[in-house]
This record gives sequence, structure tokens and C-alpha cells, in this order.
Amino acid sequence: GGSMKFAFVGTGMIGSGLAVNAALRGQDVVLYDVAEPETVKGTVGKVLDILVEAGAVDRERADETLSKMSFTKDLAEAVTGADFVQECVPEKLELKHSTYRQIQEICGDSTVIASSTSGMFPSALAEGALYPERIIVGHPYNPSYLLPLIEICGPHAPQETIDRALEAYRAMGKEPVVCRKEVTGFIVNSLSWGVMDGAIDKVLDGVCDVEDVDKAIMYGPGLRMAVTGQLLTMSMGVQGGFREMAEKYGKTAARRPDQIEHYGQIADGVDEEIADRSGAQGRTVEEITKFRDKAFVGLLKLQGKL
Ligand code: NAD
Repeated sequence: GGSMKFAFVGTGMIGSGLAVNAALRGQDVVLYDVAEPETVKGTVGKVLDILVEAGAVDRERADETLSKMSFTKDLAEAVTGADFVQECVPEKLELKHSTYRQIQEICGDSTVIASSTSGMFPSALAEGALYPERIIVGHPYNPSYLLPLIEICGPHAPQETIDRALEAYRAMGKEPVVCRKEVTGFIVNSLSWGVMDGAIDKVLDGVCDVEDVDKAIMYGPGLRMAVTGQLLTMSMGVQGGFREMAEKYGKTAARRPDQIEHYGQIADGVDEEIADRSGAQGRTVEEITKFRDKAFVGLLKLQGKL
């Protein structure tokens, strides 16, 4: 459809990066902060400079994008008529609560507010709000100006709120995922803590040194995970996909007896994941393999390994 109005409330490291994403996608973007608009404009300009330097956008498009963004110290001006508000103020519950109160007094129940919080649960954020059903988490991943991931979490919120957040993030060019339970670290930080704990154990147990832990990830699974995640990666090595992998290799891959059954239980999900991939990413094991190998070549060339 046409462009949506996005308000970014609190525009430090995270807010400025996400605002740039939305503006580059042609959305109507307003940034609100307690800092001076000129200061915020400077922060956003630096994000755009980074993107130009990295080759993501050209200078002309960056300048044009910056000129189309609005900066204000007036919260009412920022959020009036907004379709979607991304809250990126400092990680203080009281501050987030008072911010939602002010926004909802202006917007009523028509605007979805997503918090960038890394550590607060949506139920705590929504507590005492005028319209708790419109407050959810939309957790970005650093560097937010480049990494597409957004974790939506709002088990208390109606599906309509979640759907509107999904739509808003897609319009910003992000790749939203839905975390259906309030778990510490949501999906991805809790996964990376598992890898972090394992990595430290390898060093402290004398299995290998620090550099080899990181090399082992960077030159092997890290590359694969970048293209097919974890669960789809597991079905890539087998002609018959995940189900065959689960049957054939489940016994050796599993470290606990119950895991053999668990592998079978997620096979349908892997099928859905494959079906949902874009045509360019490949929708059969053969196509995905071709796409994967092309991606590896690009990354390895960049790293001077090819
Ligand atoms: P930051 O300190 O860089 O930015 C916070 C901004 O909020 C500043 O520009 C500040 O001037 C502004 N601010 C302060 N009080 C305000 C108020 N009352 N109203 C409006 N704006 C106000 O912080 P950040 O790193 O961008 O973090 C923002 C949120 O994003 C936090 O909830 C944090 O947990 C979350 N987050 C951070 C990261 C990260 O790596 N930095 C990653 C994911 C999520």
C-alpha cells in the first residue's frame, strides 16, 4: 500500500537506526527525543554515513532520505496520526510507562506501540496502560540499521495488534519473528546465551583456545546459519530433507533419548519454512543448496578466503 506514518520515540543508537530503515523504505518518519532536533539529525546523519561507507546506499539517496525525515521535541506532534510507534527510550520501566501514558492520551487505542526493550516483558510494559492491548515488544538486534531481525513479543495482545506490527516492520524492510511466550532473552538472545556458555566451557575445559572457538564458528556453522538458520541447516545434508535426517541420523545426532522423537516433531515446521522462503532463496533442497553456495562464495571472497 501507500506509506505509513512511523514515530520513533527516543532516538539514540537504536531509534535512529530503525528510523533510517523506515525512511529508506519511503515511509513517513518522525523522530522524537528530549535531545535537540539538530543533535538527533546529526546522529541520524552519522547512521546514513555508515550505510554510504558500507555500500548499502549511495550518497544522493542518503541525503534525500535525511531531508525527508522530521525531527521534533514535541511528543504530540510526533505521534499524532502515527500508524505505528517504536519506543526506544532508555531501559527504565517508569520512563517507558509514562511515555506510553502520554502517547495513548494523544493516540487513543488506534496506534500500536512497540518497545525496543531487550530485557522487559510486554506484560510489565503494558501494566497500568490506558490501552494495554496496543503495547508489545519489538526487539531489534544490533546494529539495528543493518540487521533485519525484529522479535515481536506480546502474548497478552490480540492477534490484530501483532498483525499490525508485522505489517509495520515489513514495510520498514525488517524481518519480524514472533516470540509467543515471555521468555528471558526472547528467542535469539536466549539461543546465543546457550552458544556463549558452550564457548566459554570449551576454553575453560581446555578443549581449545579462544581463537579456535571463534574460528570454528566463523568458518563453519556461522556461515551455514546465516543462510539456513539451525533447523533448516540440519535437513540440508540429506536428500530426503529433515524427516530422513531425523530417521537416519537421529540416533547419532541426539544426545538424549527423547531428542530422537523431538526431531520428528519439528519436521512439519521445517517443511513450512521451506515453502515460505522467497523464490530467490530457493524452495527445494536443490534450489536452497545453490543459493547457499552462492552466498558462501560472496562471503568467503569478502573475507579473502576465496
Ligand atoms: P540510547 O541511550 O542510545 O538512546 C536513548 C535515547 O532516548 C537518547 O537519545 C535519549 O536522549 C532519549 N531519551 C531519554 N529520555 C527520554 C524521554 N523521556 N523521552 C524521549 N526520549 C528520551 O539507548 P539505546 O541503546 O538506543 O536503547 C534504547 C532501547 O533499545 C532500550 O530499551 C534498550 O534496551 C533497547 N535495545 C538496545 C540495544 C543496544 O544494543 N543498544 C539492542 C536492542 C534493544
